[in-house]
Amino acid sequence: MKLPNTVINFHVIQNTEWMEDILKMLTRHYTMVSVEQLENYYFNGLELKNACHITVDDGDISVYTHLFPLVKKYKIPISIYVSPTAVISGKNFWFQEIMGYDLELFLKYYNLLYQTNHVFINKHQVFGLIKSLSLKEIQTLIDGFKKENKIKDKPRRCLDVNQLLELHESGLVAIGAHTINHPILRNESYETVKDEVLRSVIELENLLKSKVKFFAYPNGFPGIDFGEREMRILEECNIRLAFSTQSKNFSNQDHPLSVPRRGITKGGPIFVLTKLVLGDYWDRLRRILKGRQEPDFRVK
Ligand SMILES: [Zn+2]
Repeated sequence: MKLPNTVINFHVIQNTEWMEDILKMLTRHYTMVSVEQLENYYFNGLELKNACHITVDDGDISVYTHLFPLVKKYKIPISIYVSPTAVISGKNFWFQEIMGYDLELFLKYYNLLYQTNHVFINKHQVFGLIKSLSLKEIQTLIDGFKKENKIKDKPRRCLDVNQLLELHESGLVAIGAHTINHPILRNESYETVKDEVLRSVIELENLLKSKVKFFAYPNGFPGIDFGEREMRILEECNIRLAFSTQSKNFSNQDHPLSVPRRGITKGGPIFVLTKLVLGDYWDRLRRILKGRQEPDFRVK
């Protein structure tokens, strides 16, 4: 079967069995390629057919426990995108911290803080509202909510320095930057964006003792989470490829600093393959079936 070139994006790997089923399906239908091959595709005219590259954002520990053993077993090159600060300190990103919260209650607290009266619709709405804020505002909101409801900090989600180095030294896992604190870059000042990007690249380079050339935008919708300003800053930091979460197959029409990816979170191999085969139609279908998604709830 001829399939379009695709970059897949995972966040949390449910378990090894599920992951192995998905990888077996992918290796049957695709040629698995590295991020360096993608770089050569965009910059040196390397031809790719039926190509698939796997990326994982956020450095969740499940990358190390559930995916890495399979990466070694099947020799599949992948790339992951992490915050050096999260790796070192173990501090969770804001969205990891609120995972599992009562979002209806959370929205009530938001309404109180911002003097608004949103009626709870679904989790996309709540996340859309939060993602319209700056990192500072998000932190104030979450800290206030935690204090009011006596909620403790969650245990760390991120892999640690030794695990990261082990991935790096395997030669199968390329490591890219993903900012320091996972802000929605579009909501931040120029200075903050520059600091979040540059510091994540430099500190990661210091950890790995090698050059960091790849980046994934937090959240990653083009025009909503990042724009030309962010792409310019990445260029100044000598980033070669940057990944968005625009759900599309990749082609040489893309800007190398806005390479689209298809997100996979769940579902068996047949479901995932169907999603990949349907390509761009999948999202249109989902919109019809499921209605408004998170970006639709953003406020200016
Ligand atoms: Zn992320």
